[in-house]
Parts: sequence; structure tokens; C-alpha cells
Amino acid sequence: MRIANLDNRLVLLTDDALAVDVERASAGRFSSDPQQVYSQWAPFRAWAEQAELPQGTPFDPAELGSPAPRPGQLLGIGLNYRAHADETGFTVPDTLPPVFTKFGSSITGPVTRVRLPEGGHTDWEVELVVVIGAQARQVDAESAWQHVAGLTAGQDLSERITQMAGPVPQFSLGKSFPGFTPMGPCLVTPDELADPDDLELGCAVNGESVQKGRTRDLIFSVPALVAKLSAILTLQPGDVIFTGTPSGVGLGRTPQRFLADGDELVSHIKGIGELRQTFHR
Ligand code: ZN
Repeated sequence: MRIANLDNRLVLLTDDALAVDVERASAGRFSSDPQQVYSQWAPFRAWAEQAELPQGTPFDPAELGSPAPRPGQLLGIGLNYRAHADETGFTVPDTLPPVFTKFGSSITGPVTRVRLPEGGHTDWEVELVVVIGAQARQVDAESAWQHVAGLTAGQDLSERITQMAGPVPQFSLGKSFPGFTPMGPCLVTPDELADPDDLELGCAVNGESVQKGRTRDLIFSVPALVAKLSAILTLQPGDVIFTGTPSGVGLGRTPQRFLADGDELVSHIKGIGELRQTFHR
């Protein structure tokens, strides 16, 4: 199943990528609010599997919002691919990866224009993003997928000067400028993917590929992350986890490279879809 946020309304996507409005198709049983569906995830999935849906309507991806626009918690994972940890000069984590938050005001849909912070070094980080579908507290890795509603694509846009400023790094602020958390284009349930633990992801700047990886190379897989995080936090339906970025970020290049006025960044995860950001001063 694929769902999306079309102009702030929850839609189901048909096999032909047409949008069906959930509130109308369910005669009001499920809210039009894309965030609310995660608190009713099991009944929603049961309904969606057997519902007789009306004909969908075509749409422009630029009309999409984030499939989880207002998560209670928005977690980011650092250094979760070995080659990326190496390029940043940090040690590879062994028992627990670095965890930070991206503030919710930075969330957007998949197709946006993003203003570059003045004097900053704005960098790309394509990431697999997990949305929680059932409360998770001290969940083991074996049952972790049962607590996941689905997967989407995300960009963990990062302004490196702010991120590294001060006596300890400011990951949360450096990654939370307006528009720095695009997500989408849709949420895909794990059963739709041949292997949800091995997805190709990448991004390109002005058509030049800069990141390409596979999620099988995550140091802490999706189940491991849900287990590690839920050992400490309670994860609630609708919470979002950015799972970390593969190698190829601008910070790790020689010479370093950052996003400039007019650049276009296209990010993808095979089986999920594409994000498209253009940057301006
Ligand atoms: Zn990241």
C-alpha cells in the first residue's frame, strides 16, 4: 500500500499512481489529516485492503506534502554507514549510533525551493526514513518491523558551519533550517518492497550523481534502530526516524563542495520515489 499527503489531505495511491481521498472513500471513518492515520494504523490497513475504491485522480508531485507532516518525535541517526563515518573522520559507532532531532518546523513535502542560509555550507544527505505505526517500547529486533507503518525518502539537509559550531556539535540546529527536512513522495508499506532491508538510494546535484548506496550497508538496520531506540525512548505512531546517509556528502569531498544558488538536488530511493529541491539565496 502507498499513501501520500496531497494538499494536506490523506490519499491512497492506486497502482496507476492516481490519488483516492481517504476521508471521502471511507465516508468519514478515517480523518483527512495525513498525520492522524498512524494512530489508527491497524484498522486503516484492514479497511484499505478490502475497500472498493472510486476512480483516483492524477496529481502533480509538487502538490504533495510530507507523508508524516507533524511527527511527535523526529529522530536523526548519524554515522550509520561505514564509508560515511570514514569520510567524516569520525569513529564508526559500535553499540549505539549518534542520535539527534530535526525540529518539526523544517519538514516539507518532496518538491520544494529551499533558501540557503547566509554564509552557510549547506550539504546533502539522502536517507531512508521510517514512520512508526504502532507504539514501540523495549521492542526486540525480531518484531521491530511490526511497529513500522512504512518507509519514505528523506533529505537530511545540513548546514555544516552551524552543525559543527561551539564546544559540542549542534546537529539539531544545523539540520533544522526552514525546508531542511523534505520527505516523500509517498509512504510505502514494507510488504510492497521485495526486500525492505536492501533498498538502493542516491542523489544527484545538477544531474551529477553524488551519493549512491544500499540500505543493506546500514550499520544499524531498521529493526536494530527500532530496538536500540525503543530500549530508551517510547516510539509513538507517526514518529519519524531518518536512518543515516551513505557516503558522498559534500563535507567529505576533496575539495569540499556545498549547495549553491540555482543548484537542483534530486534524491531517490528505488521502489519509493523521488525528491526534488532547488536552492536559492
Ligand atoms: Zn543525516
